[in-house]
Amino acid sequence: VTPVSTLVLGHRFADALPELALPWQAEEAPEPRLLVLNESLASELGLDADALRADLGLLTGTTPPEGATPVAQVYAGHQFGGFSPRLGDGRALLLGELTDAEGGHRDLHLKGSGRTPLARGGDGLAAVGPMLREYVISEAMHALGIPTTRSLAVVATGRPVRRETVLPGAVLARVASSHLRVGSFQYAAASGDVDLTRRLADHAIARHHPEAADAEAPYRAFYEAVVAAQADLVARWMLVGFVHGVMNTDNMTISGETIDYGPCAFLDAYDPTTVFSSIDEQGRYAFGNQPVVAEWNLARLAEALLPLLHDDQEQAVELALESLRGFRLRYTDQWYAGLRAKLGLPAEVDDELARPLADDLLALMKEGRVDHTSFFRALGAAARGDAEPARARVLDLAAFDAWTERWRALGPDADAMDRVNPVYVPRNHLVEEALDAATAGDLDPLTELLDAVTAPYDERPGLERHAEPGSDAFAAGFRTF
Ligand code: AMP
Ligand code: MG
Ligand code: MG
Repeated sequence: VTPVSTLVLGHRFADALPELALPWQAEEAPEPRLLVLNESLASELGLDADALRADLGLLTGTTPPEGATPVAQVYAGHQFGGFSPRLGDGRALLLGELTDAEGGHRDLHLKGSGRTPLARGGDGLAAVGPMLREYVISEAMHALGIPTTRSLAVVATGRPVRRETVLPGAVLARVASSHLRVGSFQYAAASGDVDLTRRLADHAIARHHPEAADAEAPYRAFYEAVVAAQADLVARWMLVGFVHGVMNTDNMTISGETIDYGPCAFLDAYDPTTVFSSIDEQGRYAFGNQPVVAEWNLARLAEALLPLLHDDQEQAVELALESLRGFRLRYTDQWYAGLRAKLGLPAEVDDELARPLADDLLALMKEGRVDHTSFFRALGAAARGDAEPARARVLDLAAFDAWTERWRALGPDADAMDRVNPVYVPRNHLVEEALDAATAGDLDPLTELLDAVTAPYDERPGLERHAEPGSDAFAAGFRTF
């Protein structure tokens, strides 16, 4: 383990892409206080948890290690469909790159570390509640096996943050395989500097999709690798009932990791129109729209890459469209493969039986506004012969009984189901409770919540309330933002 003072942080991004990196420093934290530290992630990164605790200057960014080059990253992006040519880290910093235990590079990044030259009208700050929300949800996603940025720590800064009320400020230390986004490519493309787009693509290929470098058409292979990674990712979201909430192109990674946990949440009732963000009035980023939005965002990435795909731009468009068509195919395959697993279907069951079976179940769930997580988990018991816990959650009992008979005849594997259907996801009412308590100074509910959601498949006594949805009244008015 490395003491914090001698930690070496790389600056390959800043060196390779200075046009996208503004050297900057974090704002002073008047009274730093550690709220939560991810010890297992720290050790994965070779960081000494005690050293991190003893000197909060790394986690707040106020005393970066010697030789580090913290930068605000510049990017563009489509926000709710409208293009902004210059966004970037308004309240975040890339501290540098760590080398993890496997020799891979991981970004160490801060959110809430003060205004940068890209802050526009923003105050550069973040409040304790939203930073803890990102911590909890991202770590829950990781525990579910879904690619995501990770959360290393949240430190309260002692600085007040003015929102609708005055809230305590915090800095989140985030770890990602990189912070390259679709919006990074859009920025490069909009600059008109094809060499910049090429350097960015080369950097991204080396870092995330090295096999593309050896392909006959490396940039096309790179694009297809991003399309595939995002198809896989969004299928995983859909299978656990995750609503990202703000799938702007600047919030979509090149690595295929989930990034930027803002107005995100998990479904209770299965309803494709679910939106948790009060600003998403049209439902652009509703649960059921996420695959379509991902595909739209990937079309924007293709536009940014056109100059690299072919010298003849008409041909480049044809190639890009052909590659983008792979999204639907891959997404659909991943989604149904995931549903097969959730239903415990043996490999020999034909897709022609499995897919309609899954579709019919989802129709039943939608009609009855059935709780997504607990219902799939209860189906494990049904596969063992006790259908009652699942049956108690649906409205149309005759339809459920008929469906169950069809399904059981295919020989579902209950143990396999329990390995893919979580007991615990972050329940919205319990997340709110934990964040409110933490904001008021009580960290106990947060500790219990993290305990539940970081081992989601392993049912344990004392955590029963984490396995159930909140009340309908809570759900009806629930907004994350
Ligand atoms: P998001 O919707 O979280 O992806 O943020 C969109 C853009 O707004 C990014 O460029 C952020 O860096 C910036 N931003 C969000 N909140 C703030 C803030 N409080 N101060 C400065 N910039 C912000
Ligand atoms: Mg963002
Ligand atoms: Mg955000």
